Formats: sequence, structure tokens, C-alpha cells
Amino acid sequence: MLGTHTLSSRSRQFSTLIFEEIAGLAHEYGALDLALGTPDFPVADEVKEAAIEAIRGNLNQYAILYGAKSLREAIATTFQRDRSVVVDPESEITVTCGVTEAVLDALFTVTDPGDEVVVFEPYYENYVSAIVLSGAVPCFVPLHAPTWLFNREELAAAFTSKTRALILNNPNNPTGKVFSREDLRYIGELCAQHRVTCIADEIYEVMVYDDAQHISMVEFDDLRDYVIVVNGLSKTFGVTGWRVGYVVAPPEVTRALRKIHSIVTAGTAAPLQAAGVTALLLPPSYRDEVRLTYQQRRDSLTNVLQEVGFVCKRPQGTFYVMAGIERFGSGNDIAFTKHLITEVGVAAIPGSSFYAAGNGSTLMVRFCFGKSEGLLAAAAARLRALQT
Ligand code: PLP
Repeated sequence: MLGTHTLSSRSRQFSTLIFEEIAGLAHEYGALDLALGTPDFPVADEVKEAAIEAIRGNLNQYAILYGAKSLREAIATTFQRDRSVVVDPESEITVTCGVTEAVLDALFTVTDPGDEVVVFEPYYENYVSAIVLSGAVPCFVPLHAPTWLFNREELAAAFTSKTRALILNNPNNPTGKVFSREDLRYIGELCAQHRVTCIADEIYEVMVYDDAQHISMVEFDDLRDYVIVVNGLSKTFGVTGWRVGYVVAPPEVTRALRKIHSIVTAGTAAPLQAAGVTALLLPPSYRDEVRLTYQQRRDSLTNVLQEVGFVCKRPQGTFYVMAGIERFGSGNDIAFTKHLITEVGVAAIPGSSFYAAGNGSTLMVRFCFGKSEGLLAAAAARLRALQT
């Protein structure tokens, strides 16, 4: 049908996000939300107070476009404190509106239209949208279920003369995988060998369980020239609505990326950057508490899922669990998710939405356990109805 407006072919490439569709349906049926990755624990009081104080203190105008000095310094402090890695706040850090902007800025900085970007699949949906928006072409490398290991030959074969970037999410949404040091080095060396930039999204860095350890790509000193790390406050501090993220990149890349960033958003909210300093400088025990809380919730949700018939293991990281639905006799994940929302009263995300069309398993759904104990208990009671 012809509309009143002429819309760009760029805008017509994108359909409604599956997350929005699920949220709409869940709302309509009053389903409990185990779909979206929005932590529902309250923000630490001192962090809230810092935001309020910043506004009271009239910190209401633009910050330095590439990020308030105090926030960049706090980010550098966390790298030094937690990883013994030196990052220069003046030449290597840019503050962005979340990782969402950071990924787009990084792609606009290192790729041209027609270039190729390697992405592990299943992937966080926004990566592929960002690649397409930037005019580049996604090339998928499978993480094989149920272990989510990748095959080194398959990865190496994905690199061509057109490859300019690889996006790595570790810990990984949606699989819950935590990449080993050996695999990270292999990926980094492959990138260096091909002069390809590794864009490492480390937004779930705190959420690693049992004896798993998160290694940041900046810890490989000899590979730093090929690494852009993106991260943010959304998940660690439960402030997805604040839109505070950052990019760590070599000085030459940072200079170019800051120009892109100033065009795309001209900076994120100044008072929330000030509160971000307080958040980042909370004692490390804060992060231990977050980790422990989520580990308990992971255990309680995975136990219930296994008990009622889903096929899943405890993930090593993030606050997601991919669960097989083959025992429920449902033909595919979309029909099953609709049934779950409308009949059982629990919302999840169909697994196929993390794959390019036709590539993925249709017999998995993703649950998020980054939720309050009350919500998880209520969801467990509803999920038990699947047993009968
Ligand atoms: N990266 C990953 C892997 C995510 O799962 C999400 C949100 O779910 C984001 C980035 C979004 O980050 P931000 O809120 O900082 O834009």
C-alpha cells in the first residue's frame, strides 16, 4: 500500500524487534516477564543519590562530548583495579549512550559499506541490525549447541579480504557461554593476522558463575591495536534506562570514533555520567554481591526448568538460559512462546530470533533470570503447569 511518506530503503530493512512484540503480548496477557534482560533489583542508594545531587547541583548542561573527565577516569580506575590494565582516559576512552551506541559507533569507525563483519551465531539481535544499518554485511560463525563451542576452522574460513571487524560478546547473550582464555587469544590473533578489529562487548562481565572467569580482550597486551572493548553500566548496576556506556579503543581509533559519536548522540546525560562515577567506584564487594545473587537465581530457575521438562544446563555467565523445548512436542519455538505467554503466563524469547533466517534451531527459548526472587517464584509456580 502506498503511504503518504516516502520512506528510505534503509528504514524499510528493519521489522519490529521481537523483544517489542513479546513485551506487547506479555502485557496483553499479564504474563510474567522472563523475556527481557532488564534487571529488576533496585539501584544502589548512593548511586541514586549521586544522580539527584548532580541535578540539584546544576549539572544540567552538555558534558564534554566524548565523556565527562571524572567518568573516563573512573572507567580507567576500574580497568586498573580489576584487571591491572592501564587505559588512558584522555586518549582511549569515549562515553556513549550505552553499548547500543558504542557498537554502532565502532562499526561506523572501522567499516565501509560492503565490508564484512564476522558475528558468532546465535547473536544479540542488535548486532546484525547495527551491521546492516552501517552498510556492512554480517557473516555468521556458529556456536554449536549444546556446548556452544565454535570450530576454529569455521571461524578462520569466515575471514575474507573484505572482513573488517568481528563482534564478540563475552559473556555471551543468549547462550550464557563464557569464552576461555585460549579461545579469546585464538580469536584475537586471527583478527591481528587479518588486520581486523575485534569489537568485544563485555556488558555481562560481572555475571560469571562457579569457577568461570571473565577475561577482557584488553588483557592481551600484544593485541590491543586490534581491540575495541564496549561496555556499560546497564546490567552491572541495574540502570538500563540511564543509557551510560563506553568504548575503550587505541588512540587513533578513539580519535575517529569520537567524531562519529559526536554526530550520532553528542553525548549521554551529564548528571547520569556523574552518578556513573559513584557506581563504578563502589567497592568490589558490590560486584561480588551481584554475582552471587544472580548465581542463586540461575540455580533456582534452571532447577525449575529442568524439573518441568526443558532441556538445559546451568549457564556459566550472563543472566540468560537457553532451554530446549523438544520434550513438549511443540512444532516450533514461536508457537511454543505464544503458548507460554497466553496459556501459562510466562514470557520468554523464541530461540530462532537469535539466528539469521533459516540458520537456527527452532526448538529453544531464552529465559532471563535477572529478576526478583518474588517474580521467579511466581513464574516457577506457573511453569509447573507445563508438567500436567
Ligand atoms: N549488549 C548485549 C549483549 C546486550 O544483551 C544488551 C542488552 O540486552 C546490550 C548490549 C544493550 O546495552 P546498553 O543498555 O548499554 O545499550
